[in-house]
Order: sequence, then C-alpha cells, then structure tokens
Amino acid sequence: MSRLMVSVSGIRGVVGEGLTPEVVLRFAQAFGTYLDGGKVIVGRDSRVTGEMLKQAVLAGLTGVGCDVIDLGISTTPSTQMAVEHLEAEGSVMITASHNPIMWNGLKLIGGDGLFLDAKVGQRVVEISETQRFAFAPWDQVGVSLPYSKAAEEHLEAILKLPYLDTDAIRERRFKVALDCVCGAGAVIVPQLLEELGCTVIPLHCEPTGLFRRNPEPLPENLTELCDVVRDEGADVGFALDPDGDRLALVSEKGEPLGEEKTLALAVQLVLGKKAGPVVLNASTSRMSEDVARAAGVEVIRTRVGEIHVAKKMREVKAAVGGEGNGGVILPDLHLGRDAPVAVALTLQHMAEFAGPLSELAAALPQYVITKRKLELGAVQPQEALRKVEHAFSDATLDFTDGVKVVWPNAWVHVRPSNTEPIVRVIAEAPSAEASQGLCDQVLEIIRP
Ligand code: MG
Repeated sequence: MSRLMVSVSGIRGVVGEGLTPEVVLRFAQAFGTYLDGGKVIVGRDSRVTGEMLKQAVLAGLTGVGCDVIDLGISTTPSTQMAVEHLEAEGSVMITASHNPIMWNGLKLIGGDGLFLDAKVGQRVVEISETQRFAFAPWDQVGVSLPYSKAAEEHLEAILKLPYLDTDAIRERRFKVALDCVCGAGAVIVPQLLEELGCTVIPLHCEPTGLFRRNPEPLPENLTELCDVVRDEGADVGFALDPDGDRLALVSEKGEPLGEEKTLALAVQLVLGKKAGPVVLNASTSRMSEDVARAAGVEVIRTRVGEIHVAKKMREVKAAVGGEGNGGVILPDLHLGRDAPVAVALTLQHMAEFAGPLSELAAALPQYVITKRKLELGAVQPQEALRKVEHAFSDATLDFTDGVKVVWPNAWVHVRPSNTEPIVRVIAEAPSAEASQGLCDQVLEIIRP
C-alpha cells in the first residue's frame, strides 16, 4: 500500500513514512507560491500529529510571504466558512478525514471556501514537484496570528438558518448521545446541542485525537454509541468523523441507520421548505433521489468528491445536496459537507415529526447499499473498469465516474478511490441479498 497519496485535492499519508514534515513543508510552500501571498487560514483536526505538521505548514506559508490565521483545532466546515468570513485567499486544512490514527494530510481550500478543483490542484502539485518556490526576502515573510472564533461563528450561522425553528427544537428537550471520536467536532457540536436545548450524553468528546474506535462512522464502528443510546434512553445518537464533515445517525432503538439516511432526511427536510435542484454524487443512494423526485425537483449526479458536487450545486443553484457518506451540503450556509448543520437539520426534522427517529427513517424509500473494496496491486483500476463494462454491456452504463451499471431498481458502481489506493465496488438494490449479490458478482469479474 502506498504510504503517500498526492492528488489534486491535497495529500494524505502515514506520518513518518510517506508523510513527513518535509513533504508537508514543500506542499505548503507550493500552495503559498500559487496564491502569491495574502491571507491564508490554517485549521487542523485533533490528530496527535496535527500540531507538528502545522508548524511545517506555518513555516511553508509564511516563508513564501503569506500571512496565516491559525484556527487551531477546527472542523473542515468551520475552516471553509472562516475562509469566506475572513475573506482569505485560501486555506490549508490539516486532516486525513476518516483515515486511521497514523494518517494525516492536507486538504487545500480556495478563496471561495471550496476545495481546489483539478486544474488549480494540479498547478500546486507541479510547483511542489519542480520546487519553484517564491521565497520572500527577510523583510517580507508572513506572520501568523491565532483566531479562536471560527467554531462560534459557524455555530451562530447555523442557528440563524431560516429552516430551523430553534424554539420548537428546544421545547422537545431531546436527549442526544454524541460520539465525536475525539475529533474536531468536539469543539462545536456539544455547544450546538446545548444551544438547541438538548441533554448531551458525550462519548469521545475530548478533542485529543486519540481515536478510541475506527474513525470512519460506519455502522460496525458505532457499537459503543448504539449501547449508550439504548442504555441512556436517548432520542438519537450522532457520530462524526475526525474532521466533522460526515455524520451518521443512530435511532432511539440503538440501531445505526447508515450514513445514507443522514443525507436523505436532510434532503427531505430542506425540500419541504424550499424548492430547487438536488445534486448527489454517482454513488449516493437512490433513497435521496426518490425523496427529491417525490418533491418534484430535478436531481443531478456528479463524480464522487466534494468539489464536484459543490461546484455543480453552485452552478445549478441547488437547494441541498451532498454525498451519501453522511456529507450534507446546504448552500444557504456554505458549499461544503458539514456535520454540524446535518445535526441541526436532523433535530429540526425530529421536532416536526410526531414519532421517533426510527419511524422517520422507516418512512424513507428502502434500499440496501453494499460497499466493498479491493486493494490496488490485486487489481489495476483501468483493467477492472474495462472488465465491468464488457460484462454488463447490455445494461445501462454511466461513465460519470468509473463505471456505473444501472437497472430499473438497482445499480452497481465501480471506481478507483481518490484518497486511498483501492478500487471501490458499491451496489444498491431493494434487498441486502440482492445488493451483496451484485457486489460479489462484480468482485468475481474484476479479480485477476
Ligand atoms: Mg471527513
């Protein structure tokens, strides 16, 4: 497995192996050179290597003449919002998102608060590789200043959203079990829940970066949260990933609902208040699509990756959208996946609905998604795609991102990951048996 992934959206690697202070320094110098000075926001999730890498990022940016506003521990969405709010030229977010504890990385954000697109990202990679850095002379190096209000400002903006009836949420006095995986969400979500009158049962809510579970908020990693919800009689359980852009829900029965339902419920709530197109990535469940169609709005699919979804949302003036991994994007707040806003929208939905969350979720269209992955080395991505295309040549094929084979009530999607050296195989069908069967069938086809 490669220990450093360099892509147009940033770098990610295992600290001390692929990802060293030197690699990070070069990337920060390259980004600052591309920006040609100006104000740059730096945030980091709570990873134990974050502070060390931040020093390299600060040296790199200030060395090429950028002034840094240092948010300290911050979620990715709070950092994106700070870029817009503080009118910065861009931002470096130090995080490896949902990857395990030994990983870290940089996500690069432009002046519009969106991740860099492929063209700009490629330019930064080139500067980093050719090492053509525009070092500042001694009297023009940048300065770095701390800024502690990003989470507070993000929270205030959420509470001002027109879709939220904060009094109605407060009246319900929801009991909420919250698992922040000791990540950056711990600096904003407990405070948000308190503002919304919830009783919070915290689980891993110290931002120490010492993840006590696998940090990806998949059902199999949330058993502890499920137990807490059941034992404490909570109305809902919320689980975040370390940089707070993905949210998973657990029902009052202590059952994980799966991240797809986070988005489907958010889409349903927002479309009840406002009409507008919905943008989803190619791998997102048909659940969200059915909800949007029932509301009579257009659905547009994009390649997987936040930047693709966010740019399309801006272009079509979408009402809501996101990625099925629990990444809700609400353009009225900002164009980025945002777990804190997903928490607020879920509570609003629960406040409007008379019954428990399990019933709200059961009323959604029912599909089952199966996700599998194959490590590269076992398979070459282009060859795998060709084999799938050939095997399913009589079905409807969609090449938006890798290959997606579509039938009237099911699909299977095969694509190389943007962030890990793997090929993903994702299938959806009305039953678990059928979706697992589709995944198995494809794995059989692409295995050498
Ligand atoms: Mg993340």
